[in-house]
Amino acid sequence: MSAVTETSTNSPARSVVVTGGNRGIGQAIVGRFLAAGHRVASFDMGGEPATGALGVNCNVTDADQVEAAFKQAEEANGPVEILVANAGITKDTLILRMSDADWDAVINVNLTGAFRVAKRAAKSMIRGRWGRIVFTGSVVGLYGSAGQVNYSSSKAALVGMARSLTREIGGRGVTANVVAPGFIETDMTAVLPDDVIAKYLAAIPAARLGQVAEVAAAVEFLASEEAGFISGAVLPGAGGLGMGH
Ligand code: NDP
Repeated sequence: MSAVTETSTNSPARSVVVTGGNRGIGQAIVGRFLAAGHRVASFDMGGEPATGALGVNCNVTDADQVEAAFKQAEEANGPVEILVANAGITKDTLILRMSDADWDAVINVNLTGAFRVAKRAAKSMIRGRWGRIVFTGSVVGLYGSAGQVNYSSSKAALVGMARSLTREIGGRGVTANVVAPGFIETDMTAVLPDDVIAKYLAAIPAARLGQVAEVAAAVEFLASEEAGFISGAVLPGAGGLGMGH
């Protein structure tokens, strides 16, 4: 296990797990924690993690892989103190065309996957009486989105999960929050047709898409020492899209 050191802000260096950390928003989150001096493991299904991060192969839909991945991360970095449940997928279509398989696949990764990793991480956080859990939700979890009944349901449910965790283990020094990005430039949004992007751009008060670094900054804040009294919150990063929801 690596020695405990301090981060660039003189806070203790923590053992961090980010799911889906090999690209997109997760990759930016990994980079941000590494730059601050934390010990970071990325759980994903392939690809190169950022230099300095421990890449762990882990499909969050498989409980055995989740358990093995936590063991690997803990051997390298110590008991997990910060968890960012970020892995997510979309399978968009209108409800009349949405198959049970489309529904199950999205719920299994986005919601049940988050439950699996949160449950496993909570163990060491409760024992250590310190922990930060951040779920990557989405603005559409509370705002709604045509064609995303499965995805928006999975993201809305993360709010309930964070708030229930807050009530359950908030007294043990563990916080659980949701960061709710809007439209961020990643592989996930690169596949959207131009007319859909144009429609959203017209609705975003900031009049632009967001950048992964902007979401990573919000996550780092929620996971910081200073955010210890913030729990059960939904922190939007959406340029004003969905505000008030
Ligand atoms: P990307 O599609 O760029 O990346 C998705 C990440 O999730 C990849 O690292 C992928 O790993 C990982 N992943 C997918 N399925 C699994 C699985 N079964 N087990 C482990 N890892 C998995 O997505 P984004 O970076 O855009 O999105 C990251 C999060 O942010 C998601 O939860 C998404 O819903 C949310 N979000 C994104 C927004 C956006 O505009 N981009 C807006 C709002 C929320 P691999 O490469 O190995 O497949």
